[in-house]
Amino acid sequence: MTARPLVFATRNAGKLGELRNLLPELRVLSIDDAEAHLGRAIPEVDEDRDTFAGNAAKKAREVSLATGLPALADDSGLEVDALGGAPGVYSARFAGQGGTAANNAKLVAELAGIPAARRTARFRAVLALADATGPLGDEIILADGSCEGAILDGPRGTGGFGYDPLFLLPSGRTMAELPEDEKNAVSHRGLAMRAIKPKLLAYLLTLNGGG
Ligand code: IMP
Repeated sequence: MTARPLVFATRNAGKLGELRNLLPELRVLSIDDAEAHLGRAIPEVDEDRDTFAGNAAKKAREVSLATGLPALADDSGLEVDALGGAPGVYSARFAGQGGTAANNAKLVAELAGIPAARRTARFRAVLALADATGPLGDEIILADGSCEGAILDGPRGTGGFGYDPLFLLPSGRTMAELPEDEKNAVSHRGLAMRAIKPKLLAYLLTLNGGG
C-alpha cells in the first residue's frame, strides 16, 4: 500500500516472522533487508535506556535516521516477580553473552526452590514508530502490551524463542507449545502490535497522500 517500506529494527527472525504475520498488508524490511536495499551497513543501536519504552524509542529513531525510512522498533523482556522484576530490560543479556540457553539456565537456577505460587511473571513489549526524516519529525508513536504467566522449573515445547519454553500461560501450555498464530493472539508483542497497527496504518496512508 506504500512505496516507502517500513523497516522493523530487528535481526531476530522470530520477531520478524511474528510482525509479518500481524501486518500482511505492509512491505516490512528487516535490518538485513534494509542494508541490502540501501547498500550500506546500519549501525547497531546501544540499548542503554532503563525502560522498554526508552529503548524502543531510541532504536526506532536511530534506525529511521540511518535509513531515511519509517522505522518500527520493539523492546521487550521478561519481568519475574520473585526476582524484583528482573531480568526486565536486561532479558537478552541476563547471563551475559551466553545467549538463550544460558539465560534460561540462569532463570531456572535463580528460581530453584521457589514454589509455583510465587513464580509469577509477565512478558512486556513496547513498540515505537519513528519517521525522523518524514512528517512525524521528532514525534514517536508508542504502544505496549503485556502477557501474564509463570516460570516453570524446566523447558516445555519447541516453538517461539528466548524464554518461551519456560513461560507457562494460564491455559496450561507454555508459550513454546503454541503455534505462531496462537502465540500472536495472546503475546505481549501481539497485543502491542494490534495496539499500534491502526496508528501505523493511518500514518503510512497519510504519507501516501491517502489521508
Ligand atoms: P530485545 O530484543 O532487546 O527486545 O530483547 C528481548 C529479550 O527478551 C529476548 O532476547 C528474549 O530473551 C526475551 N523475550 C522478549 N520477547 C520474548 C518472547 O516473545 N518470547 C521469549 N522471550 C522473549
